[in-house]
Amino acid sequence: AIRIEAMNKWYGSYHALRDINLSVKSGERIVVAGPSGSGKSTMIRCINRLEEHQSGRIFVDGIELSSDLKNIDKVRSEVGMVFQHFNLFPHLTILENCTLAPIWVRQTPRNEAIQTAMHFLEKVKIPEQAHKYPGQLSGGQQQRVAIARSLCMKPKIMLFDEPTSALDPEMIKEVLDTMVELAEEGMTMLCVTHEMAFAQAVANRVIFMDQGQIVEENNPHDFFNNPQSGRTRLFLSQIL
Ligand code: ATP
Ligand code: MG
Repeated sequence: AIRIEAMNKWYGSYHALRDINLSVKSGERIVVAGPSGSGKSTMIRCINRLEEHQSGRIFVDGIELSSDLKNIDKVRSEVGMVFQHFNLFPHLTILENCTLAPIWVRQTPRNEAIQTAMHFLEKVKIPEQAHKYPGQLSGGQQQRVAIARSLCMKPKIMLFDEPTSALDPEMIKEVLDTMVELAEEGMTMLCVTHEMAFAQAVANRVIFMDQGQIVEENNPHDFFNNPQSGRTRLFLSQIL
């Protein structure tokens, strides 16, 4: 679970996040939407401390994020993150990408790490690519590897930041299908995405951000059919 209380973040003098309050319960799936520059990535990145907030509090599984490095490591080991650009290590094979952190960060025995990696590569439907390098895979395949790699660390929460927006249309579905499966298995998910069909299908709640604030928060049905704020209506009219 995640709890954010009155969180503010500045980049220098730019006030990027304003009084963010958000709770994500265990097993909940939240979609975060909003225009470019509204602070979606910044909020996601604050949750695993890729960015530092300046006021308010963030709790991940009851642990408060502070500048204590041990505590940051603990939180990061519970939270998986998948980015728009897959961030795979280009000089390592798919299998090595998936076993690196379990072996070196978790001290998992190599054989066990390989077994786990193959399990998740099968889950994302590309076990036959295990010995190739990222550059030899399609974008959709690379993104599924990135998801499998995260899952190998057995995270309790998965954060997604526009995982399909760098992909060609025919590859979007295969990545979304993987995410839907993950949702059906009960993973706690916080997803920044413009895929509104995905939001309709799997989100418990949709959060709409604008200018660093959470402007609206609702179940998908009401969010799409009966948006409360003018800013949400404008946004929806532009993307739907
Ligand atoms: P997009 O949909 O384009 O990904 P976003 O909602 O994810 O947008 P953020 O990337 O969180 O938006 O950025 C929010 C604001 O903070 C933007 O105005 C951006 O220019 C600014 N910003 C983001 N990262 C930095 C940084 N490292 N330094 C300074 N300003 C930044
Ligand atoms: Mg972003």
